[in-house]
Amino acid sequence: MALIVQKYGGTSVGTVERIQEVAKKLIKHQQQGDDLVVVLSAMSGETNRLIGLANQLNDKPQGRELDVLLSTGEQVTIALLCMALEQQGVTANSYTGSQVKILTDTTHNKARIVEIDDSRIRNDLSKGHIVVVAGFQGCDELGNITTLGRGGSDTTAVALAAALQADECQIYTDVDGVYTTDPRVVSEARRLDHLTYEEMLEMASLGAKVLQIRSVEFARNYNVPLRVLSSFKEGGGTLITAEEPSMEQAVISGIAFNRDEAKLTVLGVPDHPGIASKILGPIAKENIEVDMIIQNTGHDGTTDFTFTVHRNDFQSSLAILKNTAQELGAQEVISDNKITKVSVIGVGMRSHAGIASTMFETLANENINISMISTSEIKISVVVDETHLELAVKALHSVFELE
Ligand code: ADP
Ligand code: ASP
Ligand code: MG
Repeated sequence: MALIVQKYGGTSVGTVERIQEVAKKLIKHQQQGDDLVVVLSAMSGETNRLIGLANQLNDKPQGRELDVLLSTGEQVTIALLCMALEQQGVTANSYTGSQVKILTDTTHNKARIVEIDDSRIRNDLSKGHIVVVAGFQGCDELGNITTLGRGGSDTTAVALAAALQADECQIYTDVDGVYTTDPRVVSEARRLDHLTYEEMLEMASLGAKVLQIRSVEFARNYNVPLRVLSSFKEGGGTLITAEEPSMEQAVISGIAFNRDEAKLTVLGVPDHPGIASKILGPIAKENIEVDMIIQNTGHDGTTDFTFTVHRNDFQSSLAILKNTAQELGAQEVISDNKITKVSVIGVGMRSHAGIASTMFETLANENINISMISTSEIKISVVVDETHLELAVKALHSVFELE
């Protein structure tokens, strides 16, 4: 008998019929003898609908009240699933994040899980009940409702699996696993049977939105076997685990991309110690996350400095940078918010030379200009113009034989 945590995403619980299908699947699974803890998202589109309502009343809805609002989406689905289960004679209890209690810090709209009290869940499981928990939410020490950031139900599921020392955490979604790249963009993308936490972390961080990044961090930190699989189609999906010495590694396992980047450059800054912190300090102070950073070698006492941010933060970053540039006596600020980042990822890169040159040559052959490059041990990312995104992803997918 195993203890399994299963998470169903928005599409999987998007209608009452689909919720009924989930109920049937759960009952079948329970009859095989496993204990089940189920985490649900809101019905697909519901979180966006709630944000839309908030936007009609407030220019910048945020903080505590936005969390009170957004957490309702998941409260609806957990209750409906338990009703569907009861209708079929199975006892199930639903719990909101605060009822469990999933304790988080106080960072509203992007809270981090601090601790999970597993006593109510264990008690229910011992009675043979199915436990259904609202994803994406928790509460802080004062009992305020918090949410975990978009896609946060994945993190609820993995955190519960870690707290309960579950045998596996299964993420049921609208694709039958993790693909070599987004199957909606490259139809030749292939499902991967197995990935390491490191690879999945890079994929998620670099734009593959199939799992929330924090859920993968949790899985890696607590060694939770994580499986992505389809709600609608039978199959083993993709298993994500720690790297084992016996694993046969493909050199490149996937290609991720991010359309939401913007690039800012300050030209002709005096090349003094402390320049990077003077440029990026005011950006960080506004809580803007900087992604890639490049500083050129100084020349004639000045240097150029480039960095990228999320497109949503473009206008505010530009205003801050223009201000800083003036203070520093820099020549000019130039910017481009029509860029995308394309990355190739694979742990096999550690032991294979020539990946970067193959990547650059492939892009050159397609006449695609690279404006920034960044690397880690297991990934190479390039910034290209957004009009070249699909061509770049398809060419790289083919040259690294990912079909
Ligand atoms: P859910 O609502 O179940 O949480 P998401 O929309 O968050 O589902 O995640 C599933 C989607 O992730 C897929 O429909 C797919 O378009 C997208 N996706 C992006 N990159 C990948 C990838 N490498 N492999 C699989 N799916 C991907
Ligand atoms: N409902 C939330 C969202 O749409 C959380 C989730 O589905 O994971 O972001
Ligand atoms: Mg998701």
